[in-house]
Formats: sequence, structure tokens, C-alpha cells
Amino acid sequence: MEEKTVLFGMSLPQLQELCLQEGFPKFTAKQLCEWMYGKGVDNIDSMTNLSLKTRARLNRIAVVGREAPLEVHTSADGTKKYLFRADEGHYIETVYIPDTRDDTGDRATLCISCQMGCRMGCRFCHTGRHGWHGNLTTTQILNQIFSIAERDELTNIVCMGMGEPMDNYDALMAALQIMVAPWGRSWSPRRITVSSVGLTPQLRRFLAETDYHLAISLHNAFPGERAEIMPMQKTYPIGELLGLLRKENWYGQRRLSFEYTLFRGINDDITHAAELVKLLGNLRCRVNLIRCHATPGDKYQSPTMETIHVFRDYLNRHGITCTRRASRGEDILAACGLLAGQRQG
Ligand code: SF4
Repeated sequence: MEEKTVLFGMSLPQLQELCLQEGFPKFTAKQLCEWMYGKGVDNIDSMTNLSLKTRARLNRIAVVGREAPLEVHTSADGTKKYLFRADEGHYIETVYIPDTRDDTGDRATLCISCQMGCRMGCRFCHTGRHGWHGNLTTTQILNQIFSIAERDELTNIVCMGMGEPMDNYDALMAALQIMVAPWGRSWSPRRITVSSVGLTPQLRRFLAETDYHLAISLHNAFPGERAEIMPMQKTYPIGELLGLLRKENWYGQRRLSFEYTLFRGINDDITHAAELVKLLGNLRCRVNLIRCHATPGDKYQSPTMETIHVFRDYLNRHGITCTRRASRGEDILAACGLLAGQRQG
């Protein structure tokens, strides 16, 4: 039997082409977008403004193709970790993070994955240690956003889960396009942040083609030390990346940030803070300090809160806007890749 076409994840032009091929009226494509992306409907029968004949024929050749999460784990702090099945035997994680810093509750961020595993090999990262098992499709990326209970509450998306976003550029950009397109979810691109360890060729495209915020995973400003924990530093040196970023205008609405996870005795003393100031001086950006999620027996442990505060205050005193990202959901294995790794065994 011929495999059915998966509609979810297709763009308006792709759906228009399908409608043309199958002899449906052209406006059917727009209606499909409204149902799938505007209303979040996950089956053809619920698309009630399509004629019964069109629905019956669509059912024969296509499916929406959304997948419910397999598991959800809720943390004491409200963070939720969803586990989705990707391809046979491979799992991905999506983390929902409501903002509980104040009572307004007006911010809810979803951290999505872009790949099954990752080939960047960052030494401190659970996902990186377990290798790469393939790219996610546009459908699989978007499914993480649409198939969770909090879909309509989301205010922000960060592409900081499993995988390196720039290593699956086309599929990710097609998914994000559906989030911002007027025929899709109509989000402002300012609600989306994409992270990267710094793959400069793709970042050049990203900067030229999109308006999403950018977060660079930095973690050490000394190139030699950075290469020890992030092997991609050897192929894409941070100095070259900074040269590229300095050419951009960061004074508009687009934001640039650097993620810096503090590891005890590895990158957390004042010499590291001073090098960071030297590297980022005069660049309009912010630094997000993250306390590492330590796993027992691991080489990478969390520094004390005092060390973190000293580091943060040094950066702030030297003109670098710096925030400390609260560690969330530690009780549900929120560190990237832990839950999926457990399931894969
Ligand atoms: Fe990949 Fe990110 Fe882990 Fe590095 S930290 S190995 S880029 S998932």
C-alpha cells in the first residue's frame, strides 16, 4: 500500500502544490494551514469547512501526522519534560518552562530538540556523549510545539534541546517559518531564540536570512581550553565567529546572547571572567550564566553559589550585562539528553 502523505510540517506553497496535483480547489491549502497551524487540529475529519468529498479523498491519500508525547515528567517547580519517539528506538526531549519568578505567569518557554543526539561532541553534555542518530524532520520539530498540553500558552521558543540547530538548518528553518508565517502561527520572530556552538557557514545564512535571536554556546573564552570541552572549536574557532558577529547590528530588536555554563575548577575563576570580558568587549550582547546540572561521579560539577556570584559581579562591573539562569527541573533530569538516554538504554 502506498504510504500516505504527512501534511503537518508542509508549508503553504507545498500544500498548494499538493492540492493542484490532486485536483483540490487551490484555497484548500489555506484552509489546511488554518486548521493545522492556526487551530492546532490533528485530524482531517475535524476540518469542517472542507467538503465531505474533499475530506474523504484527503483521508485516502494523507494524514495530519502529529504524534502525542510518550511520557511527561513534571518537576516540583512546574517545569515539564516531554519525551517523544522520533525514529525507531530513538527518543527526543522537549522541556516546557513556565516562568515562576513572579506572579504574573506571563512567560512560558518551550525548549525544543532539533536532532536525535548530536555530533558536536561537547564533553560535558549527555547528548553529545551519546553520538548522533540522525536529523529530525520539519514535522518532528514542529510536533514538539503542537503536541503538548501547553501549546496555546507558549510565549517563547528556544532551540536549545538535543542537537545543534545549525547542523539541521533547513528542516529547522522550515519549522520556524511555519511559526512566524501569516498562514502559520503568526508569531513574531522575536519570540524565538536559536542557539549554536558556532558553525560559521550556517550562521552566516542564519544572520542574513532570519530575524530570530541568537544564543552562542561559549562556555570558555580561552580558545585552547574551549577546544578541550567543545571539539568544534577546532573547526570553527570562536575568534572567527566573533569577527562575523561584530559585523552585525545588534542595536535593533534582534538579541545576541552567550551561554556560559560554569563548571567547578574548569572555567569558573576570575581569569576566565576577565578573558570573557576581553573577548566580548564592545559587543552588544548579554551573557547567561548557567549552573551546571551535575550528575554524581561526573567530572563536570557545579561551582558554589558564591563562585557564581563573584563571576557574575565581575562581568557586570566590567560592562557586560549578565544574568544567572535559574536551574530548573533538576528533579526530572532536565539536563539535556538525560531522559532520552535513559529510555534508549
Ligand atoms: Fe550538542 Fe548542544 Fe550537547 Fe554540544 S551541548 S553536544 S551542541 S546538544
